[in-house]
Formats: sequence, structure tokens, C-alpha cells
Amino acid sequence: MPSFFCLYLFRYLIRLNFMEHNLHLYNTLTRKKEKFVPLNPPLVGMYVCGPTVYSDVHLGNCRTFMSFDIIYRYLVHLGYKVRYVRNITDAGHLEGDRDEGDDKFAKKAKLLQVEPMEIVQKYTVGFRDVMALFNTLPPNIEPTATGHIIEQQEITKKIIENKFAYEINGTVYFDVEKYAKSNNYGELTNRKLDDLLENTRELDGQDEKKGRLDFALWIKAKPEHLMQWPSPWGMGFPGWHIECSAMSTKYLGEKFDIHGGGMDLQATHHTNEIAQNIAYCGKSPSTYWLHTNMLTVNGARMSKSAGNSFLPMELFSGDHKLLSKGYNPMCVRFFMMQTHYRSTLDFSDEALQGSEKAYNRLMESYKTLQTLTASPASKENIAALEKKCYDAMDDDFNTPVLIANLFEAIGIINSANDKRITLTQTDIDSLKRIYKHFVFDVMGLKAEEENGKANRALEKVMQLVLDLRAKVKANKDFATSDEIRNKLTEAGIQVKDSKEGATWSI
Ligand code: AMP
Ligand code: ZN
Repeated sequence: MPSFFCLYLFRYLIRLNFMEHNLHLYNTLTRKKEKFVPLNPPLVGMYVCGPTVYSDVHLGNCRTFMSFDIIYRYLVHLGYKVRYVRNITDAGHLEGDRDEGDDKFAKKAKLLQVEPMEIVQKYTVGFRDVMALFNTLPPNIEPTATGHIIEQQEITKKIIENKFAYEINGTVYFDVEKYAKSNNYGELTNRKLDDLLENTRELDGQDEKKGRLDFALWIKAKPEHLMQWPSPWGMGFPGWHIECSAMSTKYLGEKFDIHGGGMDLQATHHTNEIAQNIAYCGKSPSTYWLHTNMLTVNGARMSKSAGNSFLPMELFSGDHKLLSKGYNPMCVRFFMMQTHYRSTLDFSDEALQGSEKAYNRLMESYKTLQTLTASPASKENIAALEKKCYDAMDDDFNTPVLIANLFEAIGIINSANDKRITLTQTDIDSLKRIYKHFVFDVMGLKAEEENGKANRALEKVMQLVLDLRAKVKANKDFATSDEIRNKLTEAGIQVKDSKEGATWSI
């Protein structure tokens, strides 16, 4: 009886906490901001499409995963018990999203003359390392497509049984036009079937599928194909979309709360995922669909194929022709949060420099906060400021507004430090709580106390070295100047010379 009472009380308190907050999120499916009402509070199921691990993740991919990290962190902060599933696509992703072209893994494996699973291992490890550097929390479950071949086949069998898919010569296709007779196929992008048909190329004699929008659930493998598995339809491999239906259903059930990914996945991958789930079990998988907007370079989407991608490691080292220096991962994380996740964000060296300054101010102010002394009275309303921080996050995770509120906090801290205003102990404690909850727990930034001290000392030493080098260069002693640069390179420090002078990065 007492334990039952405790559980009841616990649930009641948790509900009270959720009710106090009024989290609203933009649902792509309904094209509206909606109040967040989970199916089984305090539990929340969230599935995010993960990386295709055939090459290094670029900064655009990282933006999407960092955005969902903040969403995850805020849900946890509100007291929800989140099961966060993010898959690893390690098979079945062809070069064209509509099942055309080569298999991305097989192509890379052939090129490098290694096993496809070596490619998968290398880039999965690289992805996790980068995510850790950005202080992005690991998901609770990180399932792989190759680990769920049976589940994908079972769902495919059931879709055939329900007459929404057909097999031709070892490949199984989803019958989109048949499905669209009783369901709204284009609901996620608000597009009519006729428009979709009009914008898709007509079938020619080479095509074996029946309808031009039909997509593959299972693909027959040629004998030389490197990754293939036995199936009721012969040797083959799964289509790309079916893996997410199989893994989300397995770990979150037929109906869960949040499904996320980048906006580029909306029209094909997620549209097909919804169709597969409804054809399989009659249920649309997720209540809320969240999509992150793209990181761009000069207005063009950053992508591997466009050749305009920046790798996180290039950014940390500054080793890229468009960068003047290297940037701390936390400063890059902060840069991402200065824009709302549903807006595009243009990447540039200047924008990063601006973020670095703002990020440093945020962290300097945290140090100042630790040194403030309390007064008996104050005219500041820190409780109202704290509420504004929650309001910003409750409004579809609006991090730029949250940051504006944090800069209000910085103003208060600096004014108190300059003795222009006074703060009570309660005010100081509330400001510390704002930092803890919003800067560290939710935004996932790290105060690099000790590192910070060492970095500042190194900055001074390097300035001294570069000044001395400039002097020897001015005296035309190029041998010594080159020797200094080479010795620094050996020590892992890269020096870049430009018209404005020399800069360095680790
Ligand atoms: P991929 O590895 O290509 O499957 O992509 C992994 C995730 O990164 C997906 O959710 C994509 O939508 C997302 N993504 C790809 N390019 C960008 C970009 N330029 N900006 C933001 N997200 C992106
Ligand atoms: Zn997916």
C-alpha cells in the first residue's frame, strides 16, 4: 500500500511539473504548433533518423543531431523519462533516395578494397567521437539496419499480406497508388498524389515496378553485390525506408511520441515510412513529426555531393581554406543554437567569429557570477527572467530567444560586478540555477575551467612566439622563421601566414 501511494504521489508531482510548463512544438504533420501531450507520461518515445555511415559526418549532419540533442535534453530536464532511439544506417541506402544508383557502402568498400563492414565501423566510430566532442548525449538505443534484417523482412511480408506491396523478380515494391486509394500518401508534405505523379519521371521499358512512385522494401542482389542476405524472395538487401519502420516499431511500439530528422527526409524517407507503418499495422507511427532545417554555405545546402561540406575536425583545427582559425567545439555548438532549428543557418568564418565572442562572454560572465557578493536588497526580478527562459524553450525549443534572455542575465551579472546594482543571495542562487539548467543541462555547453586557464596561457605564449617570428622575418632571417614554423608544426600547432599577419591553430 505505501509503495503504491508513493508511486501515485510521484506520478502526481510529475504531472504537476509538466503542467506548469506549457511545451508546444511545431508538428510537420499538422503544420501547426501544438501542445505536447505524450501518450504515456512520464514516458516519451523519440526516434531520430541517424547517419548513413559510409563517410565522415559533415557539419550539416551535426546541426541536425545537435538540435535533437537539445530537444532530448529539454524533455529530460522537464522530468520526462525519454527513450531516445537513433539508428545507424549501415546497409540499403542507395545513392538516389528513390532506390536508384549504387549502394553507398558497397561503392566505398570497392574503392578502398575493404569489407563494407570496415567502412561502417570506421565511420560509426568517427561519428560517435564527433558527437562526444560536441557534448551530444548518446541515444538510449542505437540500432543498426544490418542488425534488424529479420524484422525488416517480417514487416515486408506483412505489407505483402495486406496487399500493399508486390514482388517482381526478387524485388519487393510498395504499391503507392494502391495505398493512396485509402490513405493520404502526401500528408507529411501536404502534397496531392497527382502533383507527386506529375513531378516524377515516367516509367520506361527498363522499369519493373508497376507505379512510378513505388519504392523498394527489399531489393534483389546481383551475385557480386557485397552485402546480401537470404529472404523469402531470394538473396537481397533491404530498401532504405523500411529499416526505420522496423527499428522504431521494435523499440518504441507501433505508436510513439516524436519522430525527427532533417527536412530533406520529409518528402521521401518519412513519407514512405508513414505509408509502410500504416500498410503494416494500420497506425501512423508518431504523433509529432519534427524536422530540422539545413545548414547552408553561401545559401546552398551543405552536402557531401555538392562538395561544399566542412568536416568537424577541419573546423576544430582551422585546416580549411575558408577558415581563418580553429574553433572550440563548444563555440560551434553555441553557433548552432543562435538560430532556431526550423530556420536555415548559413555557415561562415565571420559568423563563427561572432559566435565565439558571444560564447566567451557567456562563459566569462559565469566566472564573474561565482565571485559576486550578496546584498540585503535588490530591485532585480530574476524569477521573471527564469520564467522567460522556460517560455522560450516551451515555444518549440526557441534557443535564440533563450540566448537573448541569457544575455539579459549577463547584463545583470556585469552590473552587479561593477556595483551599479545589488543582488540578494536568492538572486545570485537563481542566476546560478539559470546557468546550470539552461546553459549546461539544456544547451549542453561546458565550462572549460581548467582547460580555459591553460588555453589562455597558451594564447599568450603563442602571441609571444609569433611576435618574435615576425621580428626575425622583418630582419630577413627566413631560415629561423621557417624553423619556428616547422617546430610548431611538429608540436601539432599549425601557423598560417596572411597579409594581416600570422595566426595559429592546434
Ligand atoms: P545522412 O547521413 O545523409 O543520412 O544524414 C543524416 C542526417 O543529417 C539527416 O537527418 C539529414 O537530414 C541531416 N542533414 C544532411 N545534410 C544536412 C544539412 N546541410 N543541414 C542539416 N542537416 C542535414
Ligand atoms: Zn529514417
